[in-house]
Amino acid sequence: MKIIMLGAPGAGKGTQAVKIAKEYSIPHVSTGDIFRANIKNGTELGKKAKSYMDKGQLVPDEVTIEMLLKRIEEDDCGGGYVLDGFPRTIAQAESLKKSLEAKKQKIDYAINIDVPDSAIVERMSGRRSCPKCGASYHVSFNPPKKEGTCDNCGESLIQRDDDKPETVEKRLEVYHEQTKPLVDYYDSEGILKTVDGTKTTDEVFKAIAEVLK
Ligand code: AMP
Repeated sequence: MKIIMLGAPGAGKGTQAVKIAKEYSIPHVSTGDIFRANIKNGTELGKKAKSYMDKGQLVPDEVTIEMLLKRIEEDDCGGGYVLDGFPRTIAQAESLKKSLEAKKQKIDYAINIDVPDSAIVERMSGRRSCPKCGASYHVSFNPPKKEGTCDNCGESLIQRDDDKPETVEKRLEVYHEQTKPLVDYYDSEGILKTVDGTKTTDEVFKAIAEVLK
């Protein structure tokens, strides 16, 4: 099962991708998480990515595509994966398609989590992340059991720098210009499934599970 998650930043792609990965025992591959791990470890890739991420811009395709294609070659991806945050441009989608075609493989579903822009800003400003295990929460929609603390590992939650209001607006603009065209792209590929992302986390997951059945 190879799945792509689509949707605006803050639509709940990461939260749903984690649930899908658990339900279907496939790895959750998040390019944002890979970049953040590189930033934390002070790698050259991390330094390069940070300069774009801090401004709400996309990391260039030539860096991102190579990194993602290498990741999905790893053994744990043999039985499929759920991609979260990739592709984000048509060029990324085309590279992925070409690389999979060479192996006689294809993406099975592109799940688009649909949330109107008006709700996105509220969602992103309330988003909190665990710097240790990557789990994400929302102060109102998906709060941790104990305020400010990760349910999984007990670490103190943080607000990501790129979830701060000044960066959110730029990220939304980038989404509309560069990433939203992927909705039509995967529709024409015949694998697009759109779910209403304004519902609760559990309701959205139910709708996704229905699609994947
Ligand atoms: P995310 O955690 O998916 O919201 O990603 C956080 C940031 O990482 C984005 O705003 C981009 O700067 C960068 N990023 C993540 N995935 C990609 C991608 N596929 N292409 C380019 N930049 C990306």
